[in-house]
Amino acid sequence: MSTWSLAKTLFSGIGRVPEKYRPSKELEDRLKAVTPIEKDRYVVEKSTTEQLKQQNIILEEMCSQCRVIVAECDNVGRIKYCYECGHLKPDRTRHCSSCGMCSVKYDHHCPWINCCVTHTNYKYFLLYVVYTSLLVYFYLLTSLEGVIRYFIIQKWSEDFGKILYYVFSFAAGGVFGYYPLGELIIFHYQLISLNETTVEQTKPAVLRFDGAADYNMGRMNNFRAVFGWGVWMWPIESSELDGLHFDIRYVNKHNNIRFVRVEQEESPPNELVTGQTSEKS
Ligand SMILES: [Zn+2]
Ligand SMILES: [Zn+2]
Repeated sequence: MSTWSLAKTLFSGIGRVPEKYRPSKELEDRLKAVTPIEKDRYVVEKSTTEQLKQQNIILEEMCSQCRVIVAECDNVGRIKYCYECGHLKPDRTRHCSSCGMCSVKYDHHCPWINCCVTHTNYKYFLLYVVYTSLLVYFYLLTSLEGVIRYFIIQKWSEDFGKILYYVFSFAAGGVFGYYPLGELIIFHYQLISLNETTVEQTKPAVLRFDGAADYNMGRMNNFRAVFGWGVWMWPIESSELDGLHFDIRYVNKHNNIRFVRVEQEESPPNELVTGQTSEKS
């Protein structure tokens, strides 16, 4: 199961941004013309208030042209756009500096497997960590038997090399079982409970319309969003999401009612539903 999960993590393909999020060259050039540039790099943070206003107008035009709706914005309220890849960023998309490309529902770039962990392989990555941990714990328990037997029959003084091997194996198994594998499981359990990705923990998503909004739809729903139902323990595709659209919990501060945004992306832009359209709980 561990090998199967690892193979699926590596060969499932990275969740890249669809072409429909790429606006026309004309709009791209207009946006770049009102964005400060330093050493061949666009520096949005150095934009003046007037430039930010113009960027926002162009970005709204891009969304309208591509017929997409995004709920996330950057810290200054701008719709997110990747200047390196040349497209709008769907919600929860991040640019991976190691791969040089954007990935949808980007979690992190794992240096151990040299691969992006995104919407497409997050479940398999977690299963790989869990099954590998179980393998290490099994190895630990079977090594423990050998250590105890050697101490009980007290042959260790004559056969020092062998006992050294057992003790070293046991210690190495214990170390790897706890760190990084055990810690990774605890860490990702906490992330899924809140419906957060690794990068969102350090840099939380900012959602337009409501600064207190987030993706946390309750622990069971969050787990279901990653693992689906039924075949959750198998490295088989079971996610109910497309990696581009997510339920959002908007919190109305006055009456504390939660809402879920519903999108109809195929509709013309002026018919798109943008607000709080269905009550969740
Ligand atoms: Zn990018
Ligand atoms: Zn990457």
